[in-house]
Formats: sequence, C-alpha cells, structure tokens
Amino acid sequence: MDGFTLKNTLLCRGLDTGGADVGRGRKGGAGPAGTCLEVGRWIVNTGLNYSASRPSPLKLRLGERPSIIADGEEVPVSFINEPAFYGKTTSDGTPMKKVALLHGRDCLATTLYQRCTYMEQGRGCAFCAIHTTLDSGATILRKTPRQLGEVLMEARKDGVTHMVITTGTPNTRDHGARMLARAVEHLKSLCNIPVHVQLTPPSGRYLDLLHRAGADTIGIHMESFDSSVMRRVCPGKSGLDYGSALEYAAGLFGDGQVSSFILGGLGEAQETMKEGFEALATTGVIPFLVPFRPLPGSAMEHHPPPDPSYMAGLYLELADILIKYGLDISGHRAGCVRCGACSAIDTALEMRR
Ligand code: SF4
Repeated sequence: MDGFTLKNTLLCRGLDTGGADVGRGRKGGAGPAGTCLEVGRWIVNTGLNYSASRPSPLKLRLGERPSIIADGEEVPVSFINEPAFYGKTTSDGTPMKKVALLHGRDCLATTLYQRCTYMEQGRGCAFCAIHTTLDSGATILRKTPRQLGEVLMEARKDGVTHMVITTGTPNTRDHGARMLARAVEHLKSLCNIPVHVQLTPPSGRYLDLLHRAGADTIGIHMESFDSSVMRRVCPGKSGLDYGSALEYAAGLFGDGQVSSFILGGLGEAQETMKEGFEALATTGVIPFLVPFRPLPGSAMEHHPPPDPSYMAGLYLELADILIKYGLDISGHRAGCVRCGACSAIDTALEMRR
C-alpha cells in the first residue's frame, strides 16, 4: 500500500488495535482527537478502534517493534513518546498536561479558552467536542500566558519546535483575538518559537493585533464550502464573513501562511470542494483538508467518517490546485500545516510530484 493510501485510510478509518488499550492520545477536546504515529517520513493522527460498526482494515501489531498490517504487508510504525513535561506542574500547581499537549512530533498545542459561546447558545458545531475534556477534568477553562510560558520552556527541552494556540469562541466581538495576542506576546518575549493561532473570523483590526503580537501563521477555519452544510452542522458560524477575513489575513501574514480547515464527509456537494479549494488558493490560503472524524461526546458521534476513496479524490484535486498556484506547504512556519498529522495532503502532494 502506498504512503498516501495508508495515511488517508488511517485518517478515515482509524487503526484496529484488536481491542488493546494502548493508552495513548487525546480522547476529546478541540480538533480531531486521536493518537500520533510516525510512519516513515510522515506522521498521522489516527483514531484507535473508533468505529466499532465499521472496523478498520488496518491492524496494529504491538510488540518491541510495532507495525501496521495493511493488505497483508507489514509497515513499521512508532508511537510518539510521552514528553517529560507531562509529569511536571506549573508554579501555580497546575499539571502541565492540563495546559498544553504535544501534537504530532514537535508541536505544542493548547486551547486557550475551553468553552464556546455557540455551543452555549445551542448553535455549536455538531462535530466539536470542546467541552468534553473540560468536563472530564483533563484540562482547565483558561490558560494564562504565564502558565503557557512555563509549559513552553519545559516542552522545548522535550524537542518542541512550534506551537498551536486555538480557542473556543468567547462571547466577545474580537472572538478571542485579544487574549490570543496577549499569550503570543508573552511567549515571544520568552523565546522566538514560531506560533500559529486559530480563531473564528474577527474583523481586520483584530487580525492586525494578532500580527503585531508576533503570530507567525493563522488558521481561520471555514469547515465547509457548502452553505447548506454550514447551516446544518455549524449554525453559529454559518453567517460569518470568512472570505474577507481570509483575504485580509493573507495580505498580512503572506502567501501560504494562512490556512483553513475544510472537513470532507459532512454531506457536502462535491463540486463545492473544487471551487472552494481554487478560491482559497487564489488568495494564497492553504485549504487544510481533513476527513470528518466522529468524536465521542459530540452531536455527530454516531455519524460515519467518509470513505477513504472519496477523500482520496479530494486530496488529489487539492494537490493539483496547490501545485497550480505554487502554494508550498513545506514553507508554512507553524501550526497544523507544518505538523501535518491530521491531513493526507502532504502524501497526496508527494504522489503528484
Ligand atoms: S495537524 Fe494540528 S490538530 Fe492535528 S495533530 Fe497536528 S497540530 Fe494537532
């Protein structure tokens, strides 16, 4: 099985561990929860045993040298070791693991504010499980710049080289931009780590603020190009002006330094995808295509993930568009595009080149 097909299948169908609890990874929270595995040159954030009704065709073989059995072939894999900072606490006694987590190989990720006003209004995104890790006590509601700084300095000793700061949307006009800017400013005063921020689209003045604070890259997530999907799945965010915010951000942060998560498998009209990829690429924005993943505790926890063959078609279309517009994902300075664990776009590009 080629690397692209293997990564795409791991993202869409997860990995069958034969019921073994390998005790790793995130079970909820913001973004696609899962476990990170290194497979050759690339890394993948895959679900483990997450679809009991549609078991994964990929089996994990545990042992001294773990591997995946794919189409009768054995592919060596390695789990990412738990970083030492998980066992430490901040100066106010908060376990560092509740403040930020290691994502992928070397990315420190945190959710600055662990609630979302849309969720509280009953208009939250149906695929999101931001509240579950807070409810279970795995994280805290707000992370202060000081806590983040202390975790970052420890995480750097464990090999962290870039950072993602995402946030649930607070009920404020800036959509969390001011608290993100304060966090970025503090982190940049400690060291020059590349930092990626993510938020729902704010107005231009708040994008200016984030840029001035020192954020290197930004993610403003459209989720879907299909307006009927947005109304059904993301009712709170469906009316927001993504186009203007993304265009403005691309002007500030530069070509290839702005990204937008696009989920495949939400029931979107397929023709909206190609048009949407092209529209974003023409403005210098990278569509970060990921398959919908059913998260426990979310409103869509029983909705099936998309078929790998459907996602493969989308990835190859996107790869052709990125090549056509000269958008180089390897030049992205920080965040999800640099980490790459949740999308198969890196391997699709390798396939096309
Ligand atoms: S791609 Fe983003 S959300 Fe996925 S593991 Fe990497 S940093 Fe986390």
